[in-house]
Amino acid sequence: MSAYNIGDIDNGLEIDKILKMAHRYSKYSAGDCLGCWAAKVCGVCFSHAVRNNDFDINRKREYCKQSLASKHNDLVIYATIMEQNPRAFDFANEMVII
Ligand code: SF4
Repeated sequence: MSAYNIGDIDNGLEIDKILKMAHRYSKYSAGDCLGCWAAKVCGVCFSHAVRNNDFDINRKREYCKQSLASKHNDLVIYATIMEQNPRAFDFANEMVII
């Protein structure tokens, strides 16, 4: 497991380091996500753009490939079920999202 080093217990958070990583993430990732068909259902985020405790956009893009394959598979399953039973997910109308 890799994680960002954004401070330590003795000295607290290093805000400059956090802002730099957030800026790098938005600079490189925004272009990817703005044109991506899965943007509304994607779970890939900032935390995926890390390797060896440092920012790595290519690591995030590896997760993108996995996420896109998974979302594509989900949509194929959804469409297949809906073709066979258009009311299969009616129960979702009764679900309460908290
Ligand atoms: S798969 Fe990647 S490019 Fe597409 S929305 Fe998710 S993070 Fe963005």
